[in-house]
Amino acid sequence: MKALKDKILEEGEVIGNDIVKVDGFLNHQIDVVLLQAMGKAFKERFSDKKIHKILTIEASGIGIAVMAALEFQVPVVFAKKDQPSNVGNEVYDASVFSFTKNKKYTICVSKKYIKPGENILVIDDFLANGAAANGLIDIVRQGGANVAGLGIAIEKGFQSGGKELREKGIKVESLAIIEGISSNEIIFRTL
Ligand code: 5GP
Repeated sequence: MKALKDKILEEGEVIGNDIVKVDGFLNHQIDVVLLQAMGKAFKERFSDKKIHKILTIEASGIGIAVMAALEFQVPVVFAKKDQPSNVGNEVYDASVFSFTKNKKYTICVSKKYIKPGENILVIDDFLANGAAANGLIDIVRQGGANVAGLGIAIEKGFQSGGKELREKGIKVESLAIIEGISSNEIIFRTL
């Protein structure tokens, strides 16, 4: 998606050699016009699928998921990090290793919001090693629902998550795929 790639080049900051900081439009301040266009892009890319619901993870996935959900006219469910007391005991959960924070945490979703047979589109901001996506997919399957696909804003193609998920047969659609980072310069996959 050209507008997203342009924005990453304009405002993205490279931290070390593998983290991309996009606080100016996605992870802290939100560019709602860009996110609306991202929502439309996801609708186009998954137009062949009947989607009943979108699942994401707090916090940064929510804005993107909401924009996509408006296009599909379906609800958004977001997984909560570490089980808060107000979610109740009836939850599906999964353990996720955070690549950026270098620690493990639990994500959970109330059993009320994932039902057998639902087609669920999983959406997140970044795809790196696939831990967050795999945790969300695990939760969908615990609920007996189907993973309709994975919609990602920014995939880091030099990390293994996207390749492994595609090899497992999941339809992964990323709006921008970073092929590599060289001397602080972001290089996109062109295909
Ligand atoms: P994964 O679980 O695929 O290894 O990493 C994806 C998760 O880690 C995303 O939910 C995102 O929050 C965070 N993440 C991974 N890499 C980056 C990055 O380069 N920049 C930002 N802002 N977040 C990242």
